[in-house]
Amino acid sequence: MPSARNYRDLSYWLETCGDDLTPRPALDASIDVDIAILGAGFTGLWTAYYLARRDPSLRIAIVESEIAGFGASGRNGAWCTSGFGAGPDLLTHKYGRDSARAVHLAMVHTVDEVGRVCEVEGIDAHYQRDGELHLAIGKHQLSALDAIERTYAKLGFPEFHQRMNANETMAFLNVDGVQGSLLCNATAAIHPGRLVRGLARNVERHANTTIYERTRVESFEGGANPVLRTAQGNVNATVIVLAGEGYLSQLKPTKRQVLPLYSLIVMTEPLSDSQLQEINWTHRAVTHSQALTVDYLSRTQDGRILFGGRGAPYHFGSGIAPEHDRHQPTHERLKHAVSEWFPQLSGIAFTHQWGGVLGVPRDFVPTMGYDRATGIATSRGYTGEGVAATNLGGRVLADLITDTESDLTDLPMTRHQSRNWEPEPLRWIATRFAQHGAMQIDAKAQRSGQAPSGKSITERLIGH
Ligand SMILES: Cc1cc2nc3c(=O)[nH]c(=O)nc-3n(C[C@H](O)[C@H](O)[C@H](O)COP(=O)(O)OP(=O)(O)OC[C@H]3O[C@@H](n4cnc5c(N)ncnc54)[C@H](O)[C@@H]3O)c2cc1C
Repeated sequence: MPSARNYRDLSYWLETCGDDLTPRPALDASIDVDIAILGAGFTGLWTAYYLARRDPSLRIAIVESEIAGFGASGRNGAWCTSGFGAGPDLLTHKYGRDSARAVHLAMVHTVDEVGRVCEVEGIDAHYQRDGELHLAIGKHQLSALDAIERTYAKLGFPEFHQRMNANETMAFLNVDGVQGSLLCNATAAIHPGRLVRGLARNVERHANTTIYERTRVESFEGGANPVLRTAQGNVNATVIVLAGEGYLSQLKPTKRQVLPLYSLIVMTEPLSDSQLQEINWTHRAVTHSQALTVDYLSRTQDGRILFGGRGAPYHFGSGIAPEHDRHQPTHERLKHAVSEWFPQLSGIAFTHQWGGVLGVPRDFVPTMGYDRATGIATSRGYTGEGVAATNLGGRVLADLITDTESDLTDLPMTRHQSRNWEPEPLRWIATRFAQHGAMQIDAKAQRSGQAPSGKSITERLIGH
């Protein structure tokens, strides 16, 4: 188990979150509560936050194996995005156009809700809603922008993105080789460490909410007597909430429900004002290209560039281990990408690199559900778009658990159940094949100037 000091090394966000990360007391005996939550990331904390406001008499215990924010919530790319793990086309295909519209509207509202809570609760999470820029780097990526525009037009939101040509885009963000973009304003940049740690301090101000840290849930059971079992004691509850995202793959009953995929990040030293002006990144809009390998960039309040990307190898048997947080070939690739995107910054120093685990459901559709019969609730499977979606998940679960009918309880995720991932070695073979294939397809598209066909096995495997 890492010492308090080592938790700072997990990410720039935890290092600069504004508290010293001293672990809270662990559970030391069996207890009885109303709600027992596994995991003190955004999902667990938002669920506790909204439940305690709904019914202050509820006794809530949050059981965390390390410290609040240890998982993806303290390590991510800082996009508080209205994007959702399952895009509108997939949701329309599975649940119809009205449901896809409802999810989209709920997510746009959620981005504002995160900002509102930060404001009213005094959580200084560096929230700045300057939007999300979808870039076409190279002509071959323009067709992907066309597809996004068509999707939102079909959904009845043609105004959701503003299209910009190459010159307009470069005036907004000067990225080498950019051919055009779509700017969507319903996204904020945040400081995730300050948000997750601030939220943890906020929820425990409620007399009936306690966070137990360094207490690993070894197993859980629903039914007549729902329980989270730990080596230090049992947490008996009326409802248990599984808020462990990618880490749920480490518990037997949920082992094949989510695939833990590593996403890695590098971060530069702070840019000077003149460097920021040279690349026109004087705002804090977040951005990415249309590469299948997935890249994502954001800018900190003090002017650092964060460059993240997937591509670090999936580990056999859904392996998660501290040594997988760093994968030097991937980190070097990301550093190289910064100089390709912004040649003006050649020689810029990198001060941080880290990684973390996100949770991918087999069909890419998140689940936000509560089964009254078993007493088990869960919100999970955000596939790398969970910073805002976890807030939606927390509100959905609070409504479901307190039996409050609302627009949220009608969302398709409340009745969604993903099928299991394949057993090994099939899971490993297919995932590594898709990871390798995505890199090959990106490289070929860049070389040839031709957009990917959309019909390859890889594209189908990764849900494109
Ligand atoms: C590198 C990276 C970049 C990302 N970038 C973005 C982004 O820019 N925008 C975006 O929207 N999303 C992003 N995501 C995804 C987003 O961060 C997650 O979807 C979100 O934080 C999930 O929150 P969570 O609370 O569900 O899970 P987590 O934050 O992973 O929290 C789960 C918690 O459960 C605890 N836990 C696990 N198992 C147990 C157990 N057995 N007993 C007790 N506790 C346990 C863990 O220690 C952890 O603290 C990124 C993810 C990663 C890894």
